[in-house]
Amino acid sequence: MNEIASHRFEELKAGGMLPSPSGAAQKVLELTARPNASIRAIALFVQRDPAMAGRILRYANAGHYNLRPVVSVPQAITFLGLFRVRQIVLGFSLIDQYRTGVCSAFDYAGYWTSSLASGIAARRLASLAHSPPDESFSCGLLAGIGRLAFATAFPEEYAAVLSQGLSGEALAKEERAQFGIDSAHLSAEMLESWGLPEVFTVAVRDHEQPAATSAAPGTRAHALCATLHFAAKIGNLLNLDEAQRWKQVPSLFNAAAKLGIEESEVPPLVDEIVADWQDWARQFELPMRTYSDLRSLLAAPPAGSAEGAGPNPGLALLRVALIVNDHERLESLIRALTGLGLRVIRWSGPTEAQGILQDDLPDLAIVDTGGVEDDAVAQVHRLRNATRNALYIIALIPAAAEARFSQLMRAGAADYLPYDFTETAIIVRLSNAQRVVALQVAVRAERELAVTSSSEWARSNRRLLKDALTDVLTKLPNRRYGVDRFAQEWSIASSNTRPISCLMLDIDHFKRVNDAHGHDVGDIVLQQVAAMIEKCCRGSDIVFRYGGEEFCVICPGAALNEAIQLGERIAAAVRDGRYGVDENKFAVTLSIGIAVRTQNMHEPDELFRAADQALLAAKEGGRNRVYTAKPKGAYILSDSKARSDTTPALIV
Ligand code: GH3
Ligand code: MG
Ligand code: MG
Repeated sequence: MNEIASHRFEELKAGGMLPSPSGAAQKVLELTARPNASIRAIALFVQRDPAMAGRILRYANAGHYNLRPVVSVPQAITFLGLFRVRQIVLGFSLIDQYRTGVCSAFDYAGYWTSSLASGIAARRLASLAHSPPDESFSCGLLAGIGRLAFATAFPEEYAAVLSQGLSGEALAKEERAQFGIDSAHLSAEMLESWGLPEVFTVAVRDHEQPAATSAAPGTRAHALCATLHFAAKIGNLLNLDEAQRWKQVPSLFNAAAKLGIEESEVPPLVDEIVADWQDWARQFELPMRTYSDLRSLLAAPPAGSAEGAGPNPGLALLRVALIVNDHERLESLIRALTGLGLRVIRWSGPTEAQGILQDDLPDLAIVDTGGVEDDAVAQVHRLRNATRNALYIIALIPAAAEARFSQLMRAGAADYLPYDFTETAIIVRLSNAQRVVALQVAVRAERELAVTSSSEWARSNRRLLKDALTDVLTKLPNRRYGVDRFAQEWSIASSNTRPISCLMLDIDHFKRVNDAHGHDVGDIVLQQVAAMIEKCCRGSDIVFRYGGEEFCVICPGAALNEAIQLGERIAAAVRDGRYGVDENKFAVTLSIGIAVRTQNMHEPDELFRAADQALLAAKEGGRNRVYTAKPKGAYILSDSKARSDTTPALIV
């Protein structure tokens, strides 16, 4: 990381000015860092602090990844793993200790309220950045810790900085001028000093300005940075009152689209995060602002805003099309709408509907569907498609059909109006529409890319995010993903002294497959072998295509004998299978090299190299076998009962 920032951080740290965990938490951190840490001893210590014990239990049960509830502290610690316990104890201890302070302009409770929401959001979104949920939680929770650190170390000076009302880069510049480091860099340095791997600290450092991150697009740090950005937005949103919140909504949708989350997915996602957040905020006795869900926020004017009182003046800006066959109904609608000052830009019967919508798209169409029969549903669906989801559709239906409106909604109608509508009903419907249309306009204006709908944009982002990390042929994660994930597991294993193993796998004489059956069949065989390898591995193993006909499996937590068992299992499964197409199937074998991390290894590359050397030895030893790397450069053949020693290599 940046040298000046690191230097300044060391100075502040040495001065004892930065927030740090409490004595009890320090003790737990210390114990969990020991090479032969005993879970019993750590549990005993945690249990001395009932609040901490309660929170760890709650956390272990909150992820819903458990089938059975975790009921005891030792069980929770075993389940979470020491590395995660460290992060959780650290985060919770900071909340407990720094809930108030002396910096007059710093909103301590608000800070933790939004940080907690941001942690919960980051954990919920972790899979989008291919990240472990618990580290993501720590990152979200502590991404803004640099600001709390300024408030703690320089209460008066920071109050003066905050009172200038700056934000974004201007605030960062002022922080650098005053303190020699900005809060984003300080947060990243602090997290690094607490043992979070680099992929996370880079994301924390850059999450306020994700567009300017140094992480390359398609890397996990890049994805994590965007996730944290979105999580922090949710955190901030929850700390605002409703009128301010409304203004933040467009950029929230925009940040979501960058992560490949579609518009329609945002409200339920936020609701889910809010439910968790309310639960945790209650636990920590943090203040909670009243929260009406995003859907009602979008549908109703924020309380107290000028638009809330009387007819909505924004309605006059809506451009409305009416698609109504019945002449009388059409007339009464036009009367009602023009009476409200709306511009009805065109009308037609259903047959000409698509034609009139083609050139100049209105904001809103009121469509007489006649009911909710199949025809009506198809009509709404067609309109929705023809206008690329950009049209707000209100279905006009007989009052008796209201109960079945959900079918029309699924087809794309946003709302309905009964035939016997009142003026109030129209005002309510149009106010909702106006809100959504205004939001869409704002979202589009913010967007750098000129695409027609945010769903499309979200989908293409989702694809890009995934494609960048996936091998096209085998659909396994690619080398870029694997190497990056491995680096992270490596640093977790290093801080934990847990074993970590690496298996390198190479198909024997694969060139002959191509030569004998053609490259296309070769491709199919690669897919089949990849699927077979993946099938043999556990969920916690990281399987990826290393390149060409080579694959790699990283097994966090696996000691040598477990890795050998896995290697033998894969070798046997691949050897027993038949590959290729139709009647032309043949056998394929693998050579596998295995290495486990030893104390004198400092970089992940060393483990890769050791496994690769073992693979080479397996090839030289005759192929179709599993070799392990032994210290001092000797390689041994693993004990293979299933292996036929005749080295079939390739049975064509
Ligand atoms: P060894 O047992 O020593 O590993 O022999 P080998 O033939 O498997 O190894 P070599 O490195 O000589 O050749 C690897 C071959 O794999 C050559 C290359 O054309 C083929 N290959 C690599 N990637 C692909 C691919 O994506 N599709 C196909 N069909 N072939 C590939
Ligand atoms: Mg090879
Ligand atoms: Mg090969």
